[in-house]
Amino acid sequence: LKLPHGRITKICCIGAGYVGGPTCAVTANKNPDVSVTVVDLSESRIAAWNSSTLPIYEPGLWEQVQGARDGGADRPQNLFFSTDIDKAIDEAELIFVSVNTPTKTMGAGAGLGSDTSYVEMAIRKIAQVATSDKIVVEKSTVPVRTAETMREILKAIGKPGVHFEVLSNPEFLAEGTAIRDLLAPDRILIGSLLNDHGLQAAAALAEVYARWVPRERIITMNLWSSELAKLAANALLAQRISSINALSAVCEATGADIDEIAFAVGTDSRIGPKMLKASVGFGGSCFKKDVLSLAYISECLHLPEVAAYWQSVVDINEYQKDRFTKRIIRCLYNTLNNKKVAVLGFSYKKDTGDTRESAAISIIDALVAEGAKISIYDPQVLESQIWSDIEKFKGARGDVKQYVTVCKDVYKACEGAHAIIVLTEWDEFSNKQIRKRMDWQRVAESMDRPSFVFDGRNIVDAGKLEEMGFRVECIGKPGSG
Ligand code: NAD
Repeated sequence: LKLPHGRITKICCIGAGYVGGPTCAVTANKNPDVSVTVVDLSESRIAAWNSSTLPIYEPGLWEQVQGARDGGADRPQNLFFSTDIDKAIDEAELIFVSVNTPTKTMGAGAGLGSDTSYVEMAIRKIAQVATSDKIVVEKSTVPVRTAETMREILKAIGKPGVHFEVLSNPEFLAEGTAIRDLLAPDRILIGSLLNDHGLQAAAALAEVYARWVPRERIITMNLWSSELAKLAANALLAQRISSINALSAVCEATGADIDEIAFAVGTDSRIGPKMLKASVGFGGSCFKKDVLSLAYISECLHLPEVAAYWQSVVDINEYQKDRFTKRIIRCLYNTLNNKKVAVLGFSYKKDTGDTRESAAISIIDALVAEGAKISIYDPQVLESQIWSDIEKFKGARGDVKQYVTVCKDVYKACEGAHAIIVLTEWDEFSNKQIRKRMDWQRVAESMDRPSFVFDGRNIVDAGKLEEMGFRVECIGKPGSG
């Protein structure tokens, strides 16, 4: 494997999404002597990365992008966003593949397995274009042994004499805290073949991270372990959420309180307190897809019991959303016909504008099917994004615009409503602190009575809201009524 400068000086990243953009911005900032070019098929996405309105919302992202992209007196310009994919590939010594790997929608494994066609397209491109040796790095989350496929394609199509070394370097950032996670990662995982070329490539990539990540946090291992470790991490995180949510159903039926249960079990040092927040269910582009991918892989490996185990994590998540929706309908006297319901929060979690697999989408779909009039408020999600999500509603009756409005003002959204449903844990919806929070008293005075609050994130102080006259239903707690 020939590295002309003995180290990495030029990086290309294929895929300018939630992972590729932030990861490369931080990498470029921390490696001012390395040129980093992020490429994408989408011209509009690249144009947005080159503008002052970035295509994604993420706290701290702008500072990272601006510093490296625009340069300054004390630093060079070393972050570029481009649609010239061929040029960026051929100039780079190391190429991150950070394209989407959604759940398959057609063919064998539809609804379960990962669609790796974007990864394959990127790999074929690299093989066709490269005229010098390249380290090709899987950053996308992929089924275990995808690197084998990649190696085969690169070998079959690549030019004679050009060597490719494939590494796995899964990304563990979480949306909403991406920059913090990238600057101080729990660990960086680098998987390689354990031969000379593989280890040389892994060491070269490790040097890029070592500029800011402590050495002991850069973990190297075999390729297949690294690929599977990413799926395992997401599966275990999702499983924890489904476990606490399954317990929340028992709480609602018995008078136990899920927040007290989470506190009690979280003090056990073997369990720990994180990821034990009961909610309406997990969303986002990764958890469901990665758990389903693991279930599908298990199925293909003739391990049906293992597949069923992981499938149940997703099933509980769907059940939780369905249970929450049915509770709303029951509390509102079994009819939502023409009742105004305000939905606070549309993104799948706070501090992101991402709506992929957001619980809000399926819950609003079900409420519209019941005849409710929905008004949506979210502090970050673009109105155009909300419309594009709800236009796909399965249960919609006729023109969905007759049933749904999108509000820029939280008070307007709640005015005259019979119920408020909190679906994203944005700080401003909580009434636990006063500063920068919405004025719940003002909301109470403007609503229809009896006024309900259904808190799908357990972020409100139910006692305080009840004093204002609200009837409050939280996840895993006895309700007001
Ligand atoms: P994304 O959809 O935001 O971005 C992917 C980008 O790749 C898109 O802009 C798309 O146009 C581009 N693309 C697809 N095929 C291409 C090709 N052949 N050439 C050039 N560009 C191409 O996806 P994302 O959220 O950034 O996720 C990327 C990968 O990282 C996925 O495998 C995902 O599972 C994984 N991941 C995501 C997160 C997250 O929080 N979003 C966290 C960790 C890992």
